Amino acid sequence: MPASGAVEQASHLRLVGIGAGPANLSLAALLHGDSGQPNLFFDRKPSFTWHDDQLINGATLQVSIFKDLVSLSDPTNRFSFLSYLHEHGRIYHFLNAQFAEVPRTEFRNYLAWAAEKNENVVFSETVERVDFDGVFRVTTDRRQVTADNIAVGVGTVPWVPEFALPYLDAGHFHVSRYLNHARNLAGKRIVVVGGGQSGAETFLDLISRPDSERPAWVSWVSKRRNYFPIDDSTFTNDFYMPEYSEYFYRLSESKRAELNSAHLLSSDGISESTLRAIYQQLYRLQFIERDEHRFGLLPNRTVVSADRTATGTFEVTLRHNDESGQSQCLPVDAVVWATGFRPTPKKFLDPLKDRIETENGEVRVDEDFAVAWDGPPDRKIFVQNAVRGQRGLPDVNLSLNAWRAQRIANRLRGCSAPEMAMSFIDWSAKSGRGTQWTA
Ligand SMILES: Cc1cc2nc3c(=O)[nH]c(=O)nc-3n(C[C@H](O)[C@H](O)[C@H](O)COP(=O)(O)OP(=O)(O)OC[C@H]3O[C@@H](n4cnc5c(N)ncnc54)[C@H](O)[C@@H]3O)c2cc1C
Repeated sequence: MPASGAVEQASHLRLVGIGAGPANLSLAALLHGDSGQPNLFFDRKPSFTWHDDQLINGATLQVSIFKDLVSLSDPTNRFSFLSYLHEHGRIYHFLNAQFAEVPRTEFRNYLAWAAEKNENVVFSETVERVDFDGVFRVTTDRRQVTADNIAVGVGTVPWVPEFALPYLDAGHFHVSRYLNHARNLAGKRIVVVGGGQSGAETFLDLISRPDSERPAWVSWVSKRRNYFPIDDSTFTNDFYMPEYSEYFYRLSESKRAELNSAHLLSSDGISESTLRAIYQQLYRLQFIERDEHRFGLLPNRTVVSADRTATGTFEVTLRHNDESGQSQCLPVDAVVWATGFRPTPKKFLDPLKDRIETENGEVRVDEDFAVAWDGPPDRKIFVQNAVRGQRGLPDVNLSLNAWRAQRIANRLRGCSAPEMAMSFIDWSAKSGRGTQWTA
C-alpha cells in the first residue's frame, strides 16, 4: 500500500526503515502514531510476503503467538495479533481452535495485515544507496528522501554451497522456492539436504503425498548426527529473554561464538510435532503400506559435490562424518537445499562503509542496536537481525523482535527502557541475587 498524506509528503523524516519484514514492521508499528515525527519504511517486494514459498501444508510457528510484532513490549498497541483477530471477527474461533502450534499461514496473514494497515510502510521500492551529509540521503529506485536516522532490517537471503549454484532452478533449488517447484516432483528421485525445520517439513511433505504425486525416492541428508529437536523447554527459553541478551552482549567475542554454537538447537532444531509426524509416516509407509524402499535417512553426512550426468540427472556425493574415507553416491533427479540463509548484502551502505566499525564481519552495535560509526551522535544507523555474534541466536528469530524494536524506538524518543522482567536465573556472577542469604 502506498504511503499517503502527511508522511508521503514529508520532505524530511525522523527515520527511514530499509526493509519491512517482521523486524522493521515491529519498529514501524511501535512508532506509528508518534505525531509530528514522520517515519517511512521501504520494502523492495511488490507486497508483503513472509517465506510464502515455504508455506507447506501443516507448517506452524515455532514460537509463542505472544511473540508478535508488539505484544511483548507494548501490549496495547493496535498492531497486535489480538487486534488482528478482533478486527477480523475470529477471536472466539481462534480460542476454540486450541492450536497447540499456530499455523504459519495465519501468522503470515497477520503480518500482511499489519503491513497494509500501516501507511508508513511502502512496497515496490528498493533502497539503492545511502549517503550522509549531516542528514541521511536515502536513494530508492523512485526518489530520494532525507532522514535523521535509518533502521536497516533487510533480513537474509538463501544460501547454497558454491558447487550447486550453476544448477539452481535447473534440477536444484533452495527450499525458499519449494512450493514453486514442488508440483513437478512425482516419480522423481529427490535428495533433501539440511537437518533443520525447513528440511524436515520438506521431507515430510514429499513422503506424505498421494500416490499420483509421490516421488520415486526421497533421501534426507543432514550434517548433524541425528534429526535433533528444537529445545523449547522452560529454562532454555530464558535464553530468549531480554536479560540473557544483555548478559550475552557483555561477554567476550570468543565466549559469545562458543555459546551460539553450543545453544544452536534452542533455535535451529526441529519441532517435536514435525519429527513425530515424520516417524509416524515412515511407520505407515514401511509397515502398513509395505512401501519400504521409497526413503533414505542419511544424517551425519556432508554433501561434497553434486555433478550433472550426461543424461541430465545428478550424482550427489556424501562424505560420512565419523567414518573417515567413507563416501556414498546418490543418483537423483532433483536436489532441495534446505541449507539456511545468510545476511542480505547491504551494498546500499557502501558510501558509508569506511565510517562504520565492524566486528568479525558484523557491524558493531551499542546496547540499543545503533551502529558504531564516526557520524554525529544524534544521527543513528540502527540494524535489526544482523548481529547474531553480538546479541546471540534470538537476533535472527521472532523472540526478541518487539523488545529490540522498543529499544530502538526509545532511543529515538530519548526515553529510557522500562524495567525489564528478570529471569529466574542469575546469569552473571555480578548480579548477586541468588547469594543473598538472610539468617
Ligand atoms: C520458513 C521460515 C520460517 C520461520 N519461522 C520462524 C518461527 O516460527 N519463529 C521464529 O522466531 N522465527 C522464524 N523464522 C526466522 C525469522 O523470524 C524470519 O526469518 C524473519 O522473517 C526475519 O525477519 P526480518 O525482518 O529480519 O527479515 P526478512 O523477513 O527477510 O525481511 C527483510 C525485508 O527486507 C527487504 N529488503 C531487502 N533489501 C532491501 C532493499 N535494498 N530495499 C528495500 N527492501 C529491502 C526484503 O524484501 C524483505 O522483505 C523463520 C524463517 C523462515 C525462513
